[in-house]
Amino acid sequence: MTVMGARNQTEPTLFERSRPGRRSSELPVTDVPDVDVDVVLDGVELAERAPLLPEIAELDLVRHFTRMAQRNHGIDVGFYPLGSCSMKYNPRVAERVAALPGFRDAHPWAPPAAVQGTLRALWELEQWLTELTGLHAATLQPAAGAQGELVGLLMIRAYHEHRHDDRDVIIVPDSAHGTNPASATTAGFEAVTVPSGPDGLVDVGALEALVNERTAGLMLTNPNTLGLFEVEIERIAAAIHDVGGLLYYDGANFNAIAGRVRPGDMGFDVVHLNVHKTFATPHGGGGPGAGPVVVSEELTPYLPAPVIVADGEPPSGYRFDWDRPLSIGRVHGFHGNVGVLLRALSYLQRHGSDGLASMSAKAVLNANYLARRTGEALPLAYPQHPPMHEFVLCGTAVREHGVRVLDVCKRLIDLGYHPPTNYFPLIVDEALMIEPTETEAPETLDGFAAALAQAVGEAAQDPDILHDAPRSTPVRRLDEASAARRPVLRWTPETDD
Ligand SMILES: *Cc1c(COP(=O)(O)O)cnc(C)c1O
Repeated sequence: MTVMGARNQTEPTLFERSRPGRRSSELPVTDVPDVDVDVVLDGVELAERAPLLPEIAELDLVRHFTRMAQRNHGIDVGFYPLGSCSMKYNPRVAERVAALPGFRDAHPWAPPAAVQGTLRALWELEQWLTELTGLHAATLQPAAGAQGELVGLLMIRAYHEHRHDDRDVIIVPDSAHGTNPASATTAGFEAVTVPSGPDGLVDVGALEALVNERTAGLMLTNPNTLGLFEVEIERIAAAIHDVGGLLYYDGANFNAIAGRVRPGDMGFDVVHLNVHKTFATPHGGGGPGAGPVVVSEELTPYLPAPVIVADGEPPSGYRFDWDRPLSIGRVHGFHGNVGVLLRALSYLQRHGSDGLASMSAKAVLNANYLARRTGEALPLAYPQHPPMHEFVLCGTAVREHGVRVLDVCKRLIDLGYHPPTNYFPLIVDEALMIEPTETEAPETLDGFAAALAQAVGEAAQDPDILHDAPRSTPVRRLDEASAARRPVLRWTPETDD
């Protein structure tokens, strides 16, 4: 993964490279008469000085970004088995569609009449998502999965409030993604944990004992965050619905079930989908993404406004409906991350329903194959049920050699692989969470299994190799705690004033 010249070489920031007067491009001298800015912008508050932008030549700019890109790991560089993140290959056809000038150059303020094609594409994506989830209506506004969670929970809150039903608890399994309890708290609920049983599934007896008239809902993903299918989902749904609560589906694991089973049919009332995990869009490093939310008929009045409406039968015109008195309000500056949504639509259309069913089957097949192969090095944390699209290994065995799973992960980097998700879910000691996705060939999976076996073998024979890893990267071990606690987000130039 290292690139000649990039190794062990520090890359100054663009600001550090900045030299006064240096330019990438220059505009011709203006032949329009000067005007007084204060007159034209009368009353507008202006900054006291121009923004501090780096001044740099085009060649240095290109080299900077090319070098930075070469230091990055991405799905187009190598295997990226980051559990829970569905880091899969993104077909280039989706990029082409998103880059079509009619989509790409549309202005967010454009009147609906001028962007009928974009509105139709967004409306059609909503139809796909309602069909795939078995629910009634969708919003495409949320810009990420976590925002989708918040939007879904605000709709659950609005639903109960509208019925004058005072409910303040959201139940979350102990294996849940950290965003779930965080979203519940942000939406004004108390997040209460339900434990997993010894087999890694929700302890349904404990759940039944927890629910009461304070229960606003349950947040769950199925397959759950251990990659296991909740076989008692109907009993779970009944436990929540019987006390008047609603079921929220965290759709980040949709790669396992797309085209096969539908959250709506399992009893869920709200679903957010991470289209940037399941339906194309290169992701990693934090974005961009989109987290559409799909809801049941009962929750439809609470969708964020505006809602895209299709007029005529068959639809012949598309417009925004702002007249939504029960709406929780707008949650995005415009209409969502449209480029990401267009990639999702082209991915869905390119696959069709049979293609999606085949995709999820292969995701599950690949995970089960790899779980068998890596099982030779480390055991499954919850072997009682076969995994779906991802699985969690327990790495406590390496501890007796003074090594931790973190060291194994760092060693995997030297062996050419991006490490899996680690220390998550929290209920597994020394967890390694692996999601191969459907786009990887068996040879790649074999190679990864061999690398993991090698690293685990080295733990017994020569633990210093692991403590010392990674050796092949431009930077070695990072001080992650300081990076999080004392982030340096601002560069202050040396100026005269
Ligand atoms: C990725 C993920 C999320 C959050 O999605 P973002 O788009 O990163 O905000 C939520 N839940 C689960 C299970 C996830 O894997």
